[in-house]
Amino acid sequence: MSHQKSALVITAHPGDFVWRAGGAIALHARKGYKVKIACLSYGERGESQWAWKTAGVKLEDVKAQRKAEAAEAAGILGAEIEFFDAGDYPLRGTEAILDRLIDIYREEAPAFVLTHSLNDPYNVDHPEATRLAQEARIIAQAAGHKPDPARAYAAPPVFLFEPHQPEQCDYKPNVILNIDDVWEVKRKAFEVLAAQKHLWEYYTRVALNRGMQGGRNSGRAMTYGEAYQRLFPMVLEELA
Ligand SMILES: [Zn+2]
Repeated sequence: MSHQKSALVITAHPGDFVWRAGGAIALHARKGYKVKIACLSYGERGESQWAWKTAGVKLEDVKAQRKAEAAEAAGILGAEIEFFDAGDYPLRGTEAILDRLIDIYREEAPAFVLTHSLNDPYNVDHPEATRLAQEARIIAQAAGHKPDPARAYAAPPVFLFEPHQPEQCDYKPNVILNIDDVWEVKRKAFEVLAAQKHLWEYYTRVALNRGMQGGRNSGRAMTYGEAYQRLFPMVLEELA
């Protein structure tokens, strides 16, 4: 295992890591982290509306196009991406997917994990992705799973990234990340997702609102923010 710090992002669809976590990915990549994205599907059915307007289009072609876009967006953000091709609408976890995710936790030993909110009544793929992320994290720390006496008992903190309609998802952010230094990078990654152009301005507004709230809560000037909800308590030596 290398000494480079790493971070793990587990998403249902390519759009999610761009809109919801693109700032955190670019920021930590810039800080020298290895950021790995586990992209469970290509979003081929649910977030590729434009492609299906062409008569006779094949599922494989849509997947290939979305895969290329997702790889390009990950590259812009400075992350490595691994595709699972689990399918979307519906996305269903399998034993093989869970097993690979567990291995990734072990291989990367991430300093933190980013994934979906626990609830999302608009998109059942999202809670399924977060369920897999949580379950893999728990099993990865189990001493009896593929035992290795040298391994330390630890599990990384989990940060849930912001869903499209937070209130309906029972989502309450308690972390705001300042992404001013990487906003232009995140915006460039938006622009790879040409099919979802209608969301570019929407997610720019979200970032501006979170930035304003970040300034209000910290007293430090900031423009663009990304919201997260921590799933587990912070452990501190000092409260200040
Ligand atoms: Zn999604």
